[in-house]
Amino acid sequence: MPEYSISQLNNFEECALQYRLIYVDRIKRYEEGVEAFLGQRFHEAMEWLYRERAFRVVPLEELLAYYEKVWAERWHAEVKINKEGRTADDYKLMGRRFIEDYYKRHYPFEEGRVLGLERYIRFPLAEGSRYNCKGIIDRLMLAPDGAFEIHDYKTGSGLPDQAGLDEDRQLGFYQIGVQTLWPEAKEVRLIWHLVAFDLEMRSRRTPDALEGLRCEIAGLIDKIEAEREFAPHESALCNWCPYWDLCPVKKHLVKVEGLPRD
Ligand code: SF4
Repeated sequence: MPEYSISQLNNFEECALQYRLIYVDRIKRYEEGVEAFLGQRFHEAMEWLYRERAFRVVPLEELLAYYEKVWAERWHAEVKINKEGRTADDYKLMGRRFIEDYYKRHYPFEEGRVLGLERYIRFPLAEGSRYNCKGIIDRLMLAPDGAFEIHDYKTGSGLPDQAGLDEDRQLGFYQIGVQTLWPEAKEVRLIWHLVAFDLEMRSRRTPDALEGLRCEIAGLIDKIEAEREFAPHESALCNWCPYWDLCPVKKHLVKVEGLPRD
């Protein structure tokens, strides 16, 4: 039985062809945007910080050294920088600033008990449902008042508004998973760390909102499973897409070496 992640569902809505190439044809590409690379390194630094927190508080300088080490170890030739005039060091320094700001805001990291870091979850969309879901929660916490908290780090440069987060599908989807797997999670808070702005935003979901989300996701999975055409859809996403050579709307551009993607 197939299992669906929220990024997979979002990907289908953004471009059905890219979805097919990744999830149906399973064509691997190692190219990635520097923004995604930075995001991964930030997540790794946070995971290490909170794993170590069970034993000690990692000093900021040690955390930054860890971040720089994994940055150097994981850097590869397929990391693409699309913004003209920007270098890898610009992005590395940006990530350092994110870590410094986060560290100063949350030190000494005693805001509850860690229940899971990069926690992989698998769950049915509803009891007895044929729709199987999966996801990875950046950090799952038990707050001092007994609420479960789903923490998500965002390193992007777009600032979401509160109304957008109140309808955000990703953390609502994770809430369904958490309350399925841990029925004692009666109260769940959704928390975004928007580290480019040194800002934390929160939201909650009512039972009705979660039911609406279940219906929306079930409808989307039905649509994916009935899809036959998988048409390309041009958008800003194309600038970070590694499948230009397989895409009818972009492949004619591949032959022009060094073509800017903006
Ligand atoms: S280049 Fe754009 S339209 Fe083509 S597959 Fe990638 S995202 Fe879709």
